[in-house]
Amino acid sequence: MNHLQQDVVEFRSHLARWVDERLIPQAEKLDESGDFSFELFRELGELGYFGIMYPEEAGGIGQPFPYTCYTILCEELARGSMGFAAAVCMQGSTATHTIHEWGNDMLRERYFLPAMRGEKIGAFAITEPNAGSDAASLRTRATKVDGGYLLNGSKIFTSNGTVADFITVVATTDPSKGAKGLELFIVDTKSKGFIVGRKLDKFSIRCSDTAELAFEDLFVPDDHFMGDGNGGGFRRAYKALTVDRIFTAALALGTARAAYDAAVRYAGERSQFGQPIGKFQAVQFKLVDMLAKLEQARIYTYYASALADNGAPITTEAALAKIVAGENCNEVCQKALSVFGGYGLMNEYPVQRYLRDSYFPMVGGGTSDIMRIVVAKQIGL
Ligand SMILES: Cc1cc2nc3c(=O)[nH]c(=O)nc-3n(C[C@H](O)[C@H](O)[C@H](O)COP(=O)(O)OP(=O)(O)OC[C@H]3O[C@@H](n4cnc5c(N)ncnc54)[C@H](O)[C@@H]3O)c2cc1C
Repeated sequence: MNHLQQDVVEFRSHLARWVDERLIPQAEKLDESGDFSFELFRELGELGYFGIMYPEEAGGIGQPFPYTCYTILCEELARGSMGFAAAVCMQGSTATHTIHEWGNDMLRERYFLPAMRGEKIGAFAITEPNAGSDAASLRTRATKVDGGYLLNGSKIFTSNGTVADFITVVATTDPSKGAKGLELFIVDTKSKGFIVGRKLDKFSIRCSDTAELAFEDLFVPDDHFMGDGNGGGFRRAYKALTVDRIFTAALALGTARAAYDAAVRYAGERSQFGQPIGKFQAVQFKLVDMLAKLEQARIYTYYASALADNGAPITTEAALAKIVAGENCNEVCQKALSVFGGYGLMNEYPVQRYLRDSYFPMVGGGTSDIMRIVVAKQIGL
């Protein structure tokens, strides 16, 4: 192992200790209350974890393998709580990636750098009540006025939406142009006309904040415009969302690991018919099948992040990673629940949470079937 690889191993082991000591003890309580943990979020910011994806000169921490390390971050956190991990995943990736790539110095100073320190929270909003998989049909309107734009419309399912200080919003400057009319805007949530409709209650990743938002004549100054003036917003949003698929796959991988580990432990502890249930071949087969699914998810996910670290195209591999890790995680969690028998249905055991959370990676950032459509296009079908 060379020293760079050694750094990555150490990075994982420091983080794993934080997850064991700080996140896991709070995970059940956060799931039950559905609260966003400002305390843990700020702590991670102070430790510098939000800056993993970015070079030092941009305010990041300059990791040699940024995509691999961010994948490790999402995986390890999701081993403790996928809900908390999803909020972090949004902060250090999609919500700040847009400013890093296309923002001006003022936006970097006002939003990006405080976000790296965990002092400001970011979000990304493309989905609308009538535009989910078909995101390009969105209707939030940006009308040019003197010195900026007026935003009118609504968004749904925005992660970190009620707690965010700034949001990258995708809006159309001309609905007749479809995807070619879309641009990116940074919305400061203190702006007049920014409305949190409601915080959405959900059964999966409960402690990740999910919101319905509205914009009513919300003024966005010209220096908060991050489009290219030529309808490039969709391409830019798509780029940010493509990278994010690797991290959503990592969320699935982390939760699958937690479910598998819990099931193996339980199979050794629980006895029936005079012996641990792990001695029954039927239970062993189940655990081995879970391990195979877990390893497959790991290989697909880290292959995609290694390609990203090498600057190679990732459209196909990121989508495949999200399909494989997402669906495998759901299968692993179902099997884990069955290993626990009746106890699996009890809220005092975390396997039911793992199963509930496992539905998110099959939807967030595009459903598994939409990922299949992405790959089908890539192979020329
Ligand atoms: C917890 C959570 C957090 C989220 N966070 C964010 C966020 O931070 N920002 C954001 O912008 N969005 C976010 N989303 C939205 C997410 O990306 C969408 O939910 C997702 O893209 C699906 O859109 P939809 O829910 O409108 O489903 P629909 O598009 O209505 O799809 C419904 C069903 O139809 C299928 N379907 C649709 N079109 C096709 C087709 N062409 N071919 C085959 N099948 C099709 C889908 O696969 C699905 O099974 C979040 C969602 C959730 C649940």
